[in-house]
Amino acid sequence: MERACENCGIPDVELLHVRRVYMDPDHPGEIAETEEDPELWCISCTTQYPHLAEEA
Ligand SMILES: [Zn+2]
Repeated sequence: MERACENCGIPDVELLHVRRVYMDPDHPGEIAETEEDPELWCISCTTQYPHLAEEA
């Protein structure tokens, strides 16, 4: 079964387990909220969106 990035939907062989985080607009560089459910992201998304690496 082909897997796809859960963020952008592009099929990719190299996907990483991450948890999406939301940055605090009032405090740059600080995390306001972290998603509880891990997602599979492609490398491209992990370079563009804030996230935490999830241990497999
Ligand atoms: Zn992606």
